[in-house]
Amino acid sequence: MQEHWVTGDCWLGCERTGVPVIWLGPLQWDGQHAPVHACEPCLDRLKAQALAYFMQRRPVAV
Ligand SMILES: [Zn+2]
Repeated sequence: MQEHWVTGDCWLGCERTGVPVIWLGPLQWDGQHAPVHACEPCLDRLKAQALAYFMQRRPVAV
């Protein structure tokens, strides 16, 4: 994963703005697209959750 940090708003629930964030990918909802950005603490949380998923091979509750 190529990491490219920009200053922006975090989309993953911490509600921080004007912080270094990384683009995760497009969120598709009801035919619309939005760019999802995450700050480092949220990215770490997401990475840990993804790792748990890979290790356990089962869906993570959302
Ligand atoms: Zn965040």
